[in-house]
Amino acid sequence: MSALTPKPAYYRPVVADGKVFPVARSNYLSLIEFPNSWHAPRLRLVNGKWLLIGVHEGIDISAERGSPILSMEPGVVENVGWTFYSGTRVGVRGVDGRYYFYAHLSSVQQGIVVGAHVSAGTVLGLVGNTGYGPPGHRDEFPPHLHFGIEVGAHWVNPYSTLVSLYAATVGSTDQWQTELDRLASTGRSSAWRAMAQRIYMSLSPASGE
Ligand SMILES: [Zn+2]
Repeated sequence: MSALTPKPAYYRPVVADGKVFPVARSNYLSLIEFPNSWHAPRLRLVNGKWLLIGVHEGIDISAERGSPILSMEPGVVENVGWTFYSGTRVGVRGVDGRYYFYAHLSSVQQGIVVGAHVSAGTVLGLVGNTGYGPPGHRDEFPPHLHFGIEVGAHWVNPYSTLVSLYAATVGSTDQWQTELDRLASTGRSSAWRAMAQRIYMSLSPASGE
C-alpha cells in the first residue's frame, strides 16, 4: 500500500453503554464541534421569500470533509441514498428499535446497503456537505454530519447522548495528554507526532492500555 493510498485511520471508537460517538477524527489535529442546534429555526427560500418552515430535529456535528461516520448503535441499515434536503444519507434501525439518521455524507462506505447489519462503531461513510439539490449537489453549507434519532414517529433530542459519548471518547485518552504536553514542551515534534498518531488514529488500543 503506497503513501498515496493510506489505510483508513481514525480515532479509536470508544464504546460506552453499547454506543459510539458518530464522528471520528480524520487526523490527530481534527476539530469536532457540536453546539446544541436542536430545534433551531429552519428557513427556506421559497419564491424569493425566506419562510420559517420548521425547527431543526437533530444535531449538526461539524467536522472535516472525509471524517469517518460511525454507527452509534448496532442495528440494520434501513435507508441508503439521496434525498433533497439530506443529500446522501444512511438510516439505521437500532437493536433498541430507534431510527438513527446520518445525513449530508460525501460518500457511503462499501457494504453499507439496505439490510446490512452494523455494529456500534462500524464506518457508515464519510462527512460531507451534500444536499439541497439534485443527486450529487453539494457545497450549500460547510461539511458536517446531521445526526438524528427518531423514536416512533417523533425525533428526540440526541444532544445529551452525544455529549456523554464524546466525553467518554476524549476521556479515554486523557491519560496520554500529560505525555503529549511533555513532548511538546521539549520541542520533540517527531516524537509528539508519533505518539499523537498512536493515541488518536490507531484502531488498536494504544500500548500500555
Ligand atoms: Zn442538521
